[in-house]
Amino acid sequence: MEELKCVVCGKELKKDDEGRAWRKCTICKKPVCFDHLRYMGVWRRGLYRDYVEVVPVCENDMPKKRRRVTE
Ligand SMILES: [Zn+2]
Ligand SMILES: [Zn+2]
Repeated sequence: MEELKCVVCGKELKKDDEGRAWRKCTICKKPVCFDHLRYMGVWRRGLYRDYVEVVPVCENDMPKKRRRVTE
């Protein structure tokens, strides 16, 4: 059975708590607890126009440079 741990801090996570205590990182696909979960906007190609989708990523995969979070 796959062991569930936060990829940043190594905290153990329960499968049932997905979406409540942790989510999967969009980039590395590893579980990350809400303490270390960050959100990043990525461009998606839509049917009529491109749009920005906000996806969950772990702290490790955030861009290195600290940026101001826009409202
Ligand atoms: Zn964590
Ligand atoms: Zn990640």
